[in-house]
Amino acid sequence: MEKVELGKSYDAEELAKLCGFDIGDVRYETYVFEGEKAKVIAQDEGNGVIKVLEIIRQTPICPACGEEIGTIYTSRTVHLNHVDGKWVEEQVDRYCTHACSKCLEEFSPTELDYLDVPEEIR
Ligand SMILES: [Zn+2]
Repeated sequence: MEKVELGKSYDAEELAKLCGFDIGDVRYETYVFEGEKAKVIAQDEGNGVIKVLEIIRQTPICPACGEEIGTIYTSRTVHLNHVDGKWVEEQVDRYCTHACSKCLEEFSPTELDYLDVPEEIR
């Protein structure tokens, strides 16, 4: 039995055999697409169509202006309260606004969902 060698190219069936893995059910290949804007795992569905299986990371894109954004402005007000001997932050206003740092458009809760902003920090 041959062992698998790093950097060597194999026929898919041969490699599967060397790994002791049944290639019978594997009809499509998966790939990692990695660039500056995103890293995803995708599957070749044939005819040039690629389906995204997993998003590892992705730069947020403003739903209003389409620009990449790394900052969301908020109108949130906090007070610093001295509680049990230490300073803690308390959010004062229940309702606050969130806006794109590029176009200043205000985001709706749906748009914040789209941007994957966690509920706890809104
Ligand atoms: Zn924007």
